Amino acid sequence: MHDYPDLQLYIGGAWRKTAESLPVINPADETVIGKLPVAATSDLDDALEAAARGFEIWRRTAPMRRAEIIRTAAGLLRARIDEIAADITREHGKPFQQARLEVIRGAEFFEWDAGEAERIYGRVIPSEPGIRYIVHHQPIGTVAAFSPWNFPLSQPARKVAGALGAGCSIILKAAEETPAGAWHIARAFHDAGLPAGVLNLVFGVPATISDYLIPQPQVRLIAFTGSTVVGKHLTGLAARYAKPVLMELGGHAPVIVCDDADPVKAGVASAIRKARNAGQVCTSPTRFFAHEKIFAAYRDAFVERAKAVKMGNGLDPETEMGPTANHRRVEAMEMLVADAVAKGARLLTGGQRPNTPGYFYPVTVLSEVPDDARVMQEEPFGPLAIINPVTSLDEAIRRANSVPYGLAAYAFTNSAANVDRITDEVEAGNVSINTLEASVAATPFGGVKESGFGREGGAEGILHYTVVKTVSHRME
Ligand code: NAD
Repeated sequence: MHDYPDLQLYIGGAWRKTAESLPVINPADETVIGKLPVAATSDLDDALEAAARGFEIWRRTAPMRRAEIIRTAAGLLRARIDEIAADITREHGKPFQQARLEVIRGAEFFEWDAGEAERIYGRVIPSEPGIRYIVHHQPIGTVAAFSPWNFPLSQPARKVAGALGAGCSIILKAAEETPAGAWHIARAFHDAGLPAGVLNLVFGVPATISDYLIPQPQVRLIAFTGSTVVGKHLTGLAARYAKPVLMELGGHAPVIVCDDADPVKAGVASAIRKARNAGQVCTSPTRFFAHEKIFAAYRDAFVERAKAVKMGNGLDPETEMGPTANHRRVEAMEMLVADAVAKGARLLTGGQRPNTPGYFYPVTVLSEVPDDARVMQEEPFGPLAIINPVTSLDEAIRRANSVPYGLAAYAFTNSAANVDRITDEVEAGNVSINTLEASVAATPFGGVKESGFGREGGAEGILHYTVVKTVSHRME
């Protein structure tokens, strides 16, 4: 297999080494696989200067040309899929096939926003004769973006696609633990002929970089995906400088299994989805509320399928679930399970990390979890499922809404009346019925409550990277 990339910063169209670096660790065996370059303040200054120059070029580049370069870069990602997927698996742990799907998804985000770049329409407002009112959507300027480690390529892709599609320049601080996905994006855009300075990639100590970039007058939008705690902190910092933010934060997705649903089919689908990305997805289904009439059949199907999940190194084709991406997730799972069990929850499977190197933790199912268990409120962000019985749809909806989060929510039902109630009453940015897929490139994605604000993707996403300018033009 090829070597893990020799990572560098990408500033002003050139690759750059740094004096300082941090190790990149393979979570499947805890070996060091690479070196993360750590940006110094002078690198950030250079990135700002490059982004200012890049913005002047890119905002004047025809949308059709912007779209062409973005599509070329997306094509390069697709062409390099096996190389990129192997790097993602080595730094993140997820199975190789899931890493391949992530690369395709990232390419789709770029292709979607390339299309949107050509459709950022303004409008003409009807007026009295002699004056014309025209509304333009213009690129907002330089974007400071921060992407997390759970999807090393598709998370930064969302932000780079929106910014570049709209005509902005961007300084991306990608996740320090999983840097190769963003590095491959920069490489694809470099090879696609993106003008220097439009996309700048830095790595380093997150707080140092965000503290430095956010106050800079040139930075006009802060786009972040990560935990609610950090999102609130960055929103506060941005507010001090009256800057807009796009925040994709945590979730604690409920799944309502109605009494008319097929409990076995729903149980199997739920367990498969829980294992995806080892549960490290902000839309990962976590709190399963099954109607008491079908509870036992649902729970048994779920547990049986969860036990069958083959955990291992993501490069082994037999592996269905890799390790979690870092030791913090294993520690969080252990704490949340111990707390729930101490408060009376039943542990149906999992709950025990294997005695091997790597950050492995099995799919773990808790049932009859009391409301005062920490896991009922705290996002586990790992392969941990809570299955509780409910006596009615009223109770399921009430409990679904009983957390500060509102990102994704799911339901299994074939009743149109149930679908109507769930659509109207469940507090979430994305509600999916009879599917555990929460978003595709063409649909807007984002949260309500403490899951954040703004949307990525769909027709809405790109508009966050623009400002509205109204022109009143009196004809002399
Ligand atoms: P964390 O809260 O320390 O970090 C989360 C992310 O924010 C990381 O990518 C990190 O680089 C970044 N970050 C942290 N401090 C920052 C700062 N001051 N400025 C800019 N970026 C900063 O926690 P963690 O242990 O890395 O992840 C655990 C939690 O993060 C999970 O419980 C989950 O809630 C959340 N998370 C959410 C997503 C998502 O897709 N919404 C992705 C990854 C992590």
